[in-house]
Amino acid sequence: MEIIYFDNNATTKVAEEVLEEMRPLFCDLYGNPSSMHTFGGRIGHRIKKAREQVASLLGCEPSEIVFTSCGTESDNAAIRGALAAVPNKRKVITSRVEHPAVLTVCRDLENAGFTVVEIGVDRQGRLNLDELDAQIDANTALVTIMYANNETGTVFPVERIARMAAERGALFHTDAVQAVGKIPLNLSRSHIDLLSLSGHKLHAPKGVGVLYVRKGTRLAPFMLGGHQEAGRRAGTENVPGIVGLGKACELAARNIKMENTRVKALRDRLEKGILESCPDCRINGDSENRLPNTTNISFEFIEGEAILLMLDKYGICASSGSACTSGSLEPSHVLRAMGVPFTAAHGSIRFSLSRYNTQEEVDFTIEKMPRIVNQLRELSPFVPK
Ligand code: PLP
Repeated sequence: MEIIYFDNNATTKVAEEVLEEMRPLFCDLYGNPSSMHTFGGRIGHRIKKAREQVASLLGCEPSEIVFTSCGTESDNAAIRGALAAVPNKRKVITSRVEHPAVLTVCRDLENAGFTVVEIGVDRQGRLNLDELDAQIDANTALVTIMYANNETGTVFPVERIARMAAERGALFHTDAVQAVGKIPLNLSRSHIDLLSLSGHKLHAPKGVGVLYVRKGTRLAPFMLGGHQEAGRRAGTENVPGIVGLGKACELAARNIKMENTRVKALRDRLEKGILESCPDCRINGDSENRLPNTTNISFEFIEGEAILLMLDKYGICASSGSACTSGSLEPSHVLRAMGVPFTAAHGSIRFSLSRYNTQEEVDFTIEKMPRIVNQLRELSPFVPK
């Protein structure tokens, strides 16, 4: 059975060009870039090139790029590193819809005595900017707000928030793991101090990420040890991963227009097709400011997991907005923060596309969806009779 992969916000296929670029770095050019010999030294310029490729996609200086192991590490390093660098301030502001890589760190900080404020969102997942504005004060060390939400695709007005933070003397970090490669960024004209991205969300392999650190930003290193990454992140470099990420960024820059035209058109076609053929469903997320590849749809009266299992039978990979924890199906914290009613939150499915998807795949899914929904609703005790 052919796989139809609509789960690109979870992870992406490694691009063939990326794999080709990485291949020599396993068995031929396997030296350690810190070694004194020429063999190791030959690796250094590969890392330099990758740093330039990432910087070019982000519109920043290569020296502002720190390679890490993943988005989670970048988020941890940004938040903890920023707080350690400004020990006189004890307040952190974030949102209720962050990825656990940010939210769990913030809750841990709260347990350690920091004041942590989680800003709410409205029914479309848009951040309450008035609440945020009122909260940034002289004690605020850091504002950390995601660029785009992984579940709904809602894009936040991050540049505006960064300016608000800068005006009050607070550092600003954004988890841009879902945004990079999907929407154009230009950090040279930005107030963002720290930005996280992850390789495996943009057709590079798993196990490599980046923390952008704006020149002059004070940041205590998260990983201590050797002098790699100019002392900002110790540990022997994941050279194949870094080289792959560099190539993926080069490809992303080339394909970003396609993300916002062809991929967006496929997403819109899928969304429209499902909404027209399945009654009692609705989109979760901001209708105007949304990632071009993401749609999150709530199907009333049925369970997201049941829909996923039936999609799976056709080889269609998507994901649900619920998390199965300790035997009970909890709706996602994002949909709960948005005030999505319980019955709708339970039946929510995220489809996230990439440039590798085709119209045939979209049309196949549109054809199957009403059948799946009707079948499950016939069995559901929640459908009003
Ligand atoms: N932040 C966001 C918004 C994400 O979607 C993810 C992964 O899903 C992460 C952080 C974590 O990235 P990684 O899997 O590279 O640790």
